[in-house]
Amino acid sequence: MISGTVVIATEICKGCELCIASCPQESLGLSSSINRKGYRFATLVQNNCTGCVNCALVCPDSAITVYREKKAAKRIPQTVIASHAV
Ligand code: SF4
Ligand code: SF4
Repeated sequence: MISGTVVIATEICKGCELCIASCPQESLGLSSSINRKGYRFATLVQNNCTGCVNCALVCPDSAITVYREKKAAKRIPQTVIASHAV
């Protein structure tokens, strides 16, 4: 399973919200504070990013970098089946 996270260059962001609309996980929202240009900037609001990169692809200012990692596979208990030679 893949999980992801994003790093947003907050000083580049102009708060257009394209990334927010493009996120299927609703992981992104606008900050309550503003950057030096006077814009509320995009930020992660939920820790459920899958690393799909939609947000980075739509950002007109290339302000988003996506990181992905493979989650460790769940360990499934294995049943040992003893074979008895007859
Ligand atoms: S990488 Fe995908 S899931 Fe993660 S914040 Fe961007 S659009 Fe949402
Ligand atoms: S698409 Fe880019 S510029 Fe627009 S809000 Fe998202 S990070 Fe900011």
